[in-house]
Amino acid sequence: MSNAYFKVPIPVNEPIKSYKPGSPEKEELKAKMLELKSKQIEVPLIIGGKEIRTGNTAEMIIPHNKKHVLGVYHKAGKEEVEEAIESALEARKEWSEMPWEHRVSIFLKAAELLSGPWRSTINATTMLNQSKTAFQSEIDAACELIDFWNFNVYYMTQLMSDQPISTKGVWNRLEYRALEGFVFAVSPFNFTSIGGNLGTAPAMVGNVALWKPASSAVYSAYHIMLLLKEAGLPDGVINFVPGSGSQVGNPAMTSKHLAGVHFTGSTSVFQNMWKTIAENLSESNYYPRIVGETGGKDFIFAHPTADVDALVSATIRGAFEYQGQKCSAASRMYIPKSIWSEFKEKYVAEVKDVKMGDVEDFTNFMGAVIDQGAYETITEYIKYADESDEAEFITGGKYNDSEGFFIEPTTIVTTNPNFKTMVEEIFGPVMTIFVYEDEKLDETLESCDTASAYALTGAIFAQDRKALVYMADRLKNSAGNFYFNDKPTGAVVGQQPFGGGRASGTNDKAGSAMNLLRWMSVRTMKETFDPPKNWRYPFMDEK
Ligand code: NAD
Repeated sequence: MSNAYFKVPIPVNEPIKSYKPGSPEKEELKAKMLELKSKQIEVPLIIGGKEIRTGNTAEMIIPHNKKHVLGVYHKAGKEEVEEAIESALEARKEWSEMPWEHRVSIFLKAAELLSGPWRSTINATTMLNQSKTAFQSEIDAACELIDFWNFNVYYMTQLMSDQPISTKGVWNRLEYRALEGFVFAVSPFNFTSIGGNLGTAPAMVGNVALWKPASSAVYSAYHIMLLLKEAGLPDGVINFVPGSGSQVGNPAMTSKHLAGVHFTGSTSVFQNMWKTIAENLSESNYYPRIVGETGGKDFIFAHPTADVDALVSATIRGAFEYQGQKCSAASRMYIPKSIWSEFKEKYVAEVKDVKMGDVEDFTNFMGAVIDQGAYETITEYIKYADESDEAEFITGGKYNDSEGFFIEPTTIVTTNPNFKTMVEEIFGPVMTIFVYEDEKLDETLESCDTASAYALTGAIFAQDRKALVYMADRLKNSAGNFYFNDKPTGAVVGQQPFGGGRASGTNDKAGSAMNLLRWMSVRTMKETFDPPKNWRYPFMDEK
């Protein structure tokens, strides 16, 4: 055992590569995509380090070129989930006892591998299977995941150094133990980095996990497992169990060994998971820690003093980058009548320049939405608006799935602040705008705060400082990540810890010490150096 207090490297955010014409990173990425597309792979489950093929398979495709199959993955069922739980518990014996500096070295190494030799592979898998542009993939699959690993290591050591006071003759100590049991990590399709973080954040502090990635993002998730293996993650610490939500979820969540759930995804799935866990509580060995970051109905609220050019650019980036499939994507907007016509003219002209298509063509700003199901859900909303008297389209409104799941950047203007597309999460490239009378600022703020069940991200635009103060106060609980004169997307680890309240999640702030603490169980230890030998207190000596 080592006898020093180690300091981990001070983390800095991973620089974003530009992928500009002629850059080596662009050449490498393009070559990697060609290489990956030239073959089909078979993705197994990984349990206790062993590859398992169940024979129950599904295809992994390219959303913008849906006939291109990248391979198949095997799906886990009850039996494999039970095997994964056993293997995790077995691995826990050594993993939770491993000297922390060696444990975290594995994740620092993983970050370094992703920053260098693995960067193009993880970016290419994300671009192909999740239809992200090079830039969207770079800020997610490369930079954000590198940051999660480097920053979480640092936050863990900060937490461990938080110790109580001691008095004369007594030494008080806190020990930050891993949870007993296993953590069930369940990730969404839209961020490769989130998938990479949900299992590794608990693992970093000594836990073991089962990781169920989203079915439409298994391709990049599998490559992260390969990267973690190369970084030295011992077998069984994170067990890879792709498959259907309920087939994998139910046996995991009803296990008495469930110690925690680290979830990111939709609100309805999370609420059902919580119910399943609650119904099973009396059979459980623990009160599972339930951490979930879920849906959003993220807003941009403009004041009459807003800078219109800044507003236009924030709206386009906030609403349409990654086809609006970010939990933080702007999807409703409140704009005063006094600046509406100037905004509309500039905005419509700019949206006309937004190019959509194959993400291998670097001139495209948007790719396709993730799959057939998403395409149908999103286009249902567009059809609904098309048939309504309360809505008109000022951009887009068209869609086509002959090659891939393409939906134009669509903007609806509604006369009803509670219109369906103003309050429900659509998770696609659809922005709805409500134009308010300038003198109705106050009641429009009230509507923004109360119209939707969510409270994830929001942005206010004003050049009047008093207006910013007032609006931020009125919207205090309507977003966990709040932006002044900036788009509501693009949170960076270490800079804007991420998460929301109300129906948007437990707000445990991914990539922060607040999140890591959820995966630790603190043991308080008191040591008395010269304990009393007489049980009687002096006050009892009354004559
Ligand atoms: P989803 O809820 O459909 O799926 C998320 C994960 O849950 C997938 O792995 C899915 O297979 C799994 N799942 C489904 N049913 C399950 C069950 N019964 N038991 C266990 N697991 C089950 O979400 P998605 O479509 O992959 O992602 C989009 C959603 O994620 C949006 O609602 C978005 O807002 C949200 N999201 C939130 C954040 C955030 O930080 N708040 C970040 C990214 C995405």
